Amino acid sequence: MANRKKIIITLDGPASTGKSSIAKRLSNTLGYIHIDSGSMYRAATLFALRLDPERILRPNVFVKYLSEINIDFKKINEEQKIFLNNEDVSHEIRETYVTNEVSNVAKIPELRLLLVNKQKEFGKNKGIIMDGRDIGTIVFPNAECKFFLSAKVEVRAKRRYLEQSKQGINQTYKMVLDNLKMRDKLDTKRVNSPLKKAVDAIEIDVGNMTLDDAYEKLLTYIKNQIV
Ligand code: C5P
Repeated sequence: MANRKKIIITLDGPASTGKSSIAKRLSNTLGYIHIDSGSMYRAATLFALRLDPERILRPNVFVKYLSEINIDFKKINEEQKIFLNNEDVSHEIRETYVTNEVSNVAKIPELRLLLVNKQKEFGKNKGIIMDGRDIGTIVFPNAECKFFLSAKVEVRAKRRYLEQSKQGINQTYKMVLDNLKMRDKLDTKRVNSPLKKAVDAIEIDVGNMTLDDAYEKLLTYIKNQIV
């Protein structure tokens, strides 16, 4: 598919709908760059929490340090890693203490401006698939191909809980469910680029689908766009 025209593909939706896994697979198939924009908000959250010895989030202090945040992606042994000021933080940004605060950090307007500009920059040569919450609405409103994945919160919580259990992360189903509900609320209610479906996005309910099915469905739509 390398000779086909390069487009921008956006993949939005709430947490644990499989966006990043599907986007990663699609990017390999299409030979596109994949950017998981949530990981950028997570890296910024890690930076914010490290400013305080007790890891208490202080947004007013954090905004003074925004110019010191440098986030980048590098491929190491075929795996995409995220770097915060030249440190590989790919694992640490998935820790529960980051997950618990990320939506509070992501609503800070000054940070959003910074990261949205960086995300736009990544897409300037097209041939990119980016997943997140506001990619089809704010980051790439003119993208050629937009998707919005959805599923009931209980279904998403069950998936996330099983995934975490396999990784040895010690959280109950209830803790996972509460965190997803809290993030859904903060992400949809914030004033600045809330989580919402772009009017021209294709909505896919992945609640009853396997990741393979969802991947195939998206790929079929995309192939029609890039012929
Ligand atoms: O995708 P992931 O669940 O890792 O994202 C973590 C958090 O980052 C989300 O809950 C949301 O608060 C924030 N986020 C955002 N805008 C994006 C991507 C993620 O606000 N484009």
